Amino acid sequence: MVTTTCDICKKKVEIPITGQSLHYYGNHSICEACKDSLELQIKATVRDKEPYTTDWYEKYINDSISKAIQKGKI
Ligand SMILES: [Zn+2]
Repeated sequence: MVTTTCDICKKKVEIPITGQSLHYYGNHSICEACKDSLELQIKATVRDKEPYTTDWYEKYINDSISKAIQKGKI
């Protein structure tokens, strides 16, 4: 059986289904729970962000994921 490990929480995703139990951001694979936490955090920040640009948003997501991977949590 193919198992994949979440890059952030290091938990195994037993049945990795892309877009459902497993999500890809760049080179990183992220489980459902971590993706939900990440999206909540991103939404809260994006709401207060002026001016909003796509470049900023992509960089912000990449930075957030890198930080989360270093910390081992969102
Ligand atoms: Zn995870």
